[in-house]
Amino acid sequence: MVKAVVGANWGDEGKGKITDMLAEHADIIVRFQGGANAGHTIKNHYGKFSLHTLPSGVFYGHTTSVIGNGVALDIRKLFQEVGSIVKQGVPQPQILVSDRAQIVMSYHVLFDQYEEERLGSKSFGSTKSGIAPFFSDKYAKIGFQVSELFDEDLLLEKTVRVCEIKNVQLEHLYHKPLLKADDLMTELQEYRQMVEPYVTDVSAYLHQALKEGKTVLLEGQLGTLRDPDHGIYPMVTSSPTLAGYGAIGAGIPPYEIQQVITVCKAYSSQVGAGAFVSEIFGDEADELRNRGGDGGEYGATTGRPRRVGWFDCVASKYGCRLQGTTDVAFTVLDVLGYLDEIPVCVGYDIEGEITTEFPTTAKLQKAKAVYKKLPGWKCDITGIKKYEELPENCRKYIEFIESQIEYPITMISNGPSRTDIIKRQ
Ligand code: GDP
Repeated sequence: MVKAVVGANWGDEGKGKITDMLAEHADIIVRFQGGANAGHTIKNHYGKFSLHTLPSGVFYGHTTSVIGNGVALDIRKLFQEVGSIVKQGVPQPQILVSDRAQIVMSYHVLFDQYEEERLGSKSFGSTKSGIAPFFSDKYAKIGFQVSELFDEDLLLEKTVRVCEIKNVQLEHLYHKPLLKADDLMTELQEYRQMVEPYVTDVSAYLHQALKEGKTVLLEGQLGTLRDPDHGIYPMVTSSPTLAGYGAIGAGIPPYEIQQVITVCKAYSSQVGAGAFVSEIFGDEADELRNRGGDGGEYGATTGRPRRVGWFDCVASKYGCRLQGTTDVAFTVLDVLGYLDEIPVCVGYDIEGEITTEFPTTAKLQKAKAVYKKLPGWKCDITGIKKYEELPENCRKYIEFIESQIEYPITMISNGPSRTDIIKRQ
């Protein structure tokens, strides 16, 4: 069977931890979209890791880690990551790379930087990993697919064509050094050498695995609100973040995805720009940020402080709906134990009208949060293993949010480690 682990919000919900935990009973973990632009932080008996390209199930000896066709593949970063986890004592992972994945080139990273520089104060807050230029080129049909690394004639012709297009922009828009086809050939040959042993027809591999009854996890990056269609466009990422895209980005039939585990954090956080209705500021925000996650809410890729706010039922209900949620994993709940009262955003006030439906971006920018305050539980809930053992106000907080978002919370994460989990049916 296939299970997807995806985010309800802006990312950083704790998907890495949930995937790492579920991977114990999975055979194959597939990244199906995104690139090395966001990070998953995982804490287990090997140590603490920040993964960007490898799926979070990579720490087990029995799993196969797959880079699906939907991923923006930065080959150098992939192998740096493998090297770094092996150095930290993790056994050499079993990796497969789709022959249909496309490659993030060094010039994609440069174009990402140049464009953010050009936009100045109007920049998107990109992590400058080349993701937007990469996906633009994929859809403009001038990207390099992994399979093309093995066709020298095609590469010779295509590198010249790519330089013609890119150099116009480099010269006239960005005023930066031009690309040379020979340099691109050298870069591509280096990538071929690195990736060759791992290249696989991933959809055929998964087809066979599913026939044999294997369990596959699809690991999403970011969350619904960063989806290019359903998110807060244009402050979105460049590949779909929804479980439905898992079928495309891995190459499996949509009906194989039987469980969609949508990860929601017990409060909100956002990296980068974009409307954030329940955002908080000042000392209140600093306290939540410093207590948040595991060692503070700072970006796993960039180290940037994350913007923080209270739980947003409007955004999360929408986020869960678009994912096709069967289960909600409610994470980082332990962090809220310091609060006397916990505000929860239960509606948006848009020019005097109250709504619980998540609006399009122009309206979202006018939305003001309508809060309901719930009593805090004022204690540390880490270490608790049974739902009934949680303090009453903590259970009430979970049950209130469940009633607002209208999807079942079946897992509660009360600490960063694999074992900090409370299952609830
Ligand atoms: P992802 O991108 O969705 O995987 O999320 P991140 O890894 O960016 O952010 C989640 C952060 O919260 C990481 O530092 C995790 O170690 C941490 N984390 C995950 N679940 C919990 C939890 O239940 N409690 C606490 N305190 N931290 C958690």
